[in-house]
Amino acid sequence: MTTHIALRALKWQVHAACRNADREVDWIDAEPGSAATADCKAICRLCPVRLTCAITALTTGESYGVWGGMDQVDREALRHAEVQVAA
Ligand code: SF4
Repeated sequence: MTTHIALRALKWQVHAACRNADREVDWIDAEPGSAATADCKAICRLCPVRLTCAITALTTGESYGVWGGMDQVDREALRHAEVQVAA
């Protein structure tokens, strides 16, 4: 089962726009609101697997970095909105 999940993850990540991005862009440590985060988000806007990436980050509770065009502040705001809708 773990292998199956790993293979599925690899399948979508093969199409990730960030795979070919400038290695100087810091995807994990980019601070929300920073120029580095803006650079990451610009690449995400063109990514064909953006939705899958965003869903992965949201469902795994990813705390750091830019995923699916969202930084940690964006993800936290979305989680808060989901709680408000559910309440
Ligand atoms: S959405 Fe952004 S972080 Fe996610 S795979 Fe695409 S380019 Fe990478």
